[in-house]
Amino acid sequence: MLKLSNVSHIYPNGTRALDDVTLSISRGMFGLLGPNGAGKSTLMRTLATLQTPTKGQIRFGEVDVIGEPEKLRRTLGYLPQDFGVYPRVSAYDMLEHMAVLKGISARNERKAAVEDRLHQVNLWNVRRKAIAGFSGGMRQRFGIAQALIGNPELIIVDEPTAGLDPEERNRFHNLLAEIGENVVVILSTHIVEDVADLCPQMAVLAGGRILLEGAPLALIEKTRGSIWTKMIDRAELDAYGSRYQVISTRLFAGRTVIHVLAETDPRNGFVAAQGGLEDVYFSTLAQARRAA
Ligand code: ADP
Repeated sequence: MLKLSNVSHIYPNGTRALDDVTLSISRGMFGLLGPNGAGKSTLMRTLATLQTPTKGQIRFGEVDVIGEPEKLRRTLGYLPQDFGVYPRVSAYDMLEHMAVLKGISARNERKAAVEDRLHQVNLWNVRRKAIAGFSGGMRQRFGIAQALIGNPELIIVDEPTAGLDPEERNRFHNLLAEIGENVVVILSTHIVEDVADLCPQMAVLAGGRILLEGAPLALIEKTRGSIWTKMIDRAELDAYGSRYQVISTRLFAGRTVIHVLAETDPRNGFVAAQGGLEDVYFSTLAQARRAA
């Protein structure tokens, strides 16, 4: 169990990237969903012990994450948002190097760890190729392989599907889904589908604050009866925006489909929408904006 208590982070320039975040995350896949600038990467880097929060406490089981970062690192797998430079080293050699860094000193054990991971992420056939030449999807699969070396109990993946095409994303989802339920996996993303596909538990982060927390299905259930939809002309959008609480707009066959939040039937041609996680997410963000 990972427990964050009142975690805040203020960057030296005064930006409050995390504002009193309290969360309990148990085993399995946890989705941290939020728009760009929400504070997701700040939170992920903090959990990965790469930066210390201005305030608050973090515990992973018995480990005091802020006080004993080296203890957490022994059991951590981290896939950062961006590796920055991609080395001209082969996938095999790079994984081997990482296995050494993670302290797997016995040669046989290291060989098995590296080779198992390469098979698992389906990079065995390209193991001798330089990572620098990999596609986005291959890089992310390599990223998961390196994060899994050493059998970590806490795995953090920061915006892993940004920039992947639908097929690669699907492949990556399947890979994440296989990681297993005995570890804590935190997936940060701005893509609702990532969470809808994979995560039995989730939270919405925006402006550094946790706005919502729970199981996607239960959260969807709660919006039932309050989301309404209508197809309109693009030119009418402003008028609808001032009259209703529009939470999302989407194009369908050249027309605009709007979803609005309303406790009672708005009539005027609206029909009840089959609410999904997108509605939960967008209505949460819309309500937070209104409250601000
Ligand atoms: P996300 O990952 O959700 O996009 P970030 O954690 O990257 O969010 O950023 C949260 C806020 O903190 C943003 O306003 C961002 O501009 C700011 N921020 C991030 N890193 C720094 C930094 N090193 N110095 C100052 N501000 C930062």
